[in-house]
Amino acid sequence: MSNIRSVADLDVRGKQVLVRVDFNVPLDESGAIADDSRIRAALPTLRSILDRGGSAIVMSHMGRPKGEVRPELSLKPCAARLGELLQREVKMAPDCVGTQVKQMAAALGPGQVLMLENLRFHLAETKPESDPKFAKELASLADLYVNDAFGTAHRIHSSTCTIVHEFKGAVAAGFLLEKEVEYLGQTMQNPKRPFLAIIGGAKVSSKLGVLEALAKKADGLMIGGGMAFTLLKASGKEIGKSLCEDERVPQMREWLANCAAQGVDIQLPVDLVVAKDFSNEAESRVVTIDEGVPAGWMGLDIGPASIEASLKWLGQARTVLWNGPLGVFEFPNFAKGTLAVAKFLAGHSATSIVGGGDSVAAVQQSGLADKFSHLSTGGGASLEYVEYGTLPAIEALKAKATSL
Ligand code: AMP
Repeated sequence: MSNIRSVADLDVRGKQVLVRVDFNVPLDESGAIADDSRIRAALPTLRSILDRGGSAIVMSHMGRPKGEVRPELSLKPCAARLGELLQREVKMAPDCVGTQVKQMAAALGPGQVLMLENLRFHLAETKPESDPKFAKELASLADLYVNDAFGTAHRIHSSTCTIVHEFKGAVAAGFLLEKEVEYLGQTMQNPKRPFLAIIGGAKVSSKLGVLEALAKKADGLMIGGGMAFTLLKASGKEIGKSLCEDERVPQMREWLANCAAQGVDIQLPVDLVVAKDFSNEAESRVVTIDEGVPAGWMGLDIGPASIEASLKWLGQARTVLWNGPLGVFEFPNFAKGTLAVAKFLAGHSATSIVGGGDSVAAVQQSGLADKFSHLSTGGGASLEYVEYGTLPAIEALKAKATSL
């Protein structure tokens, strides 16, 4: 992975290794972990350290406590779950900095694990400039630093960026971060072509930078989901009461005209499944885009002709990047477009990368997740990676690697 060191290359024997993970797991109403995928995702990195005789000091954020100690956002349940998965004791620290934590970290022997308390109980985690001592204190806890938290790699936070500059010892990327950089980095820098992108989801405003970047890098761009309606309106189509960001219509009209002038292949739905209301049980029917969405109806999925055209179009790809569902996939009656594309890509020989958030949930819902080349673990982070071609935490690791 460019000039960033891998955890596999660190000499961890007898060393304390501070590992930034993303254990920001969803909790149910009772406060129990609803999905432990993020904890499982960090296991290869942690096992590699522990099995080679290092000790791991694990740190993460959970939720948005904004500098306040909020017991319901404690990382204690994650420490317990991590212990079960690693089949070894995981000690829980009362905080992430302070004398007691320092003593607990220093006392760790080979193969032992300490989980620090939620980093965001300190405001300086998200606002490093408010207290530069915080990152210094974290940095003083260990000999080596590993970042395996792709989900927060787009944030300039104390535990992801500032700490790297403060760190005396070697720094490295964990296996999860490495895999993200391998797939997303490679795709944006040197994809196997044709490289086609599918962008869906709710709002065009949240993915403008991504659309701009992909229009330059990809060989074609298919747009579906709620965000397609702002573009369809900009192309003069009737969209009824479909989701639309009216204030973005002029900008998207200009963007479409620029894409056309530069020969960028933009694919919009040619038909739609429209419904009377926003519900799974709503009365629905298929309309072509030239007929338009009738007044009082809304488009909730791409239609059968769009599915057929999409699959044909995607058939030529050697790389596919997908972010955002093509319809309201949470409603089974409006999930057909998203699931058809998921099924098709699962059987496709192209490198297939799904960029975080709802599109990953949709692929998981299809039961075909293991047939994709890579499912990104970061929603916002993978979008920013596509937009900028790198992320602050990755740049911090690179800068440190070249300065050592
Ligand atoms: P995002 O987080 O931007 O990727 O958006 C994901 C959300 O977009 C999901 O909750 C989908 O239900 C929603 N979505 C997809 N298509 C539509 C649509 N046609 N109308 C309204 N919402 C949609």
